[in-house]
Amino acid sequence: MVQCIKDSTSISFVYIVNRHLRILDGDENHKNKFLIDALNQLKINLSELGHELYIIEGEPSAIFSSLAKHHQINKIYCEKIISPYEKDEEISITQPDVVSYWDSSLLNIDDLDFDVNNLPDTFTTFRKKVESKPITVTLNKSLTFPKPADLLNIKSCQLPNYKNTYRGSVDFLNHFTICENGAQSYVKDYFSDNKALEYKQTRNELMGNDFSTKFSVWLAHGLISARQIFTSLKNYEENYGANESTYWILFELLWRDYFRFLHFKYDRKLYFPFGLKNKEINETSQDNIKTLVEANTESSFINAGIRELQNSGFLSNRMRQVLASFIIFEMKIDWRIGADFFQKYLIDFDIYSNQGNWIYIAGYGTDPRGGRRFNVEKQKNTYDISNQYEMYWNENT
Ligand SMILES: Cc1cc2nc3c(=O)[nH]c(=O)nc-3n(C[C@H](O)[C@H](O)[C@H](O)COP(=O)(O)OP(=O)(O)OC[C@H]3O[C@@H](n4cnc5c(N)ncnc54)[C@H](O)[C@@H]3O)c2cc1C
Repeated sequence: MVQCIKDSTSISFVYIVNRHLRILDGDENHKNKFLIDALNQLKINLSELGHELYIIEGEPSAIFSSLAKHHQINKIYCEKIISPYEKDEEISITQPDVVSYWDSSLLNIDDLDFDVNNLPDTFTTFRKKVESKPITVTLNKSLTFPKPADLLNIKSCQLPNYKNTYRGSVDFLNHFTICENGAQSYVKDYFSDNKALEYKQTRNELMGNDFSTKFSVWLAHGLISARQIFTSLKNYEENYGANESTYWILFELLWRDYFRFLHFKYDRKLYFPFGLKNKEINETSQDNIKTLVEANTESSFINAGIRELQNSGFLSNRMRQVLASFIIFEMKIDWRIGADFFQKYLIDFDIYSNQGNWIYIAGYGTDPRGGRRFNVEKQKNTYDISNQYEMYWNENT
């Protein structure tokens, strides 16, 4: 955006809704609701600056070549996304020229002491390397937009009006505007008391607003950046003191970067059925997929997790791990079907983190222990001994 503003005398904002994602089809799940809320608010915020947000449904290549034909558009500026499907979408745009910038990681790729294509395979080696010198980030100053370039005769498509409210661990979203300002207010609010000082002790809990940061929902939609969060974290440490918990928030943000950088190194291989390994892939039973989708497994703890995902669009990290392990190792479902299942519902769906975590748990990625199989009974007894989680989601959905 900064580069686009610097380079241009006039700009237009276009958001393309990909038909394959079926966002406009009336599926009132929370992931779709969040996106629609964010787009509606962005439209309002841009109009206050004298700009319009054009929301167009269809294939990016067709839309942009038509726009280029009928309007004087020289360049498209967008975020560089390096997962295979998104990369192919960018390549398919033949006109006008596409200028894409990598900007979704906390660490700047050019600041790394190694070539990102030679990323160390294990997370710990990566983390130690990047932590061997102080992590610093620079935030861009906000710039004034150039005048709008009107796209005459282009009509934005009508967004559905989803009335459902946010539930479960992310019900706080009902009290924030889903936009950049809302994200800033949320992060300010999170760092206004002692939550961050206790994060390491609470982060594995299953339910509630405060046990983990919930930054992911804002990050996934680009409403805030990891660098902005890092800056708030450092300010917090100056005011409240740094401890193991505040460090652990950074530790987790480095996992986020690690899964991003892994895509530079392994690219499409991360999407192969057997990932980076030469192992057999599970034969998936259609009956088991039905059981999964209907939350009808033999474990009521797992069923509660499936129901939470489907009915709130969020799961704690612990429940994501336990559910993914159950799907892969107990139900013997292809891990990529499990990853798709999460993609459909998660408000915070992020291609790099989702794919990265799934392949890691399945043991087809870079986990030095060759995968993570969780004992469901033990997890239930450790994290839901009071049965509160299981009852809430099995009885309220
Ligand atoms: C199978 C599986 C699928 C997942 N899919 C996604 C996904 O689609 N989108 C997503 O953002 N995260 C995903 N995660 C990672 C993690 O579960 C979520 O980021 C986290 O639960 C979000 O809640 P939070 O913001 O409160 O996290 P916190 O515990 O507060 O962590 C702070 C931030 O660190 C980052 N982070 C934390 N854990 C991880 C991790 N394991 N991998 C990468 N980044 C991490 C996130 O940006 C998060 O917002 C997945 C994990 C698993 C096991």
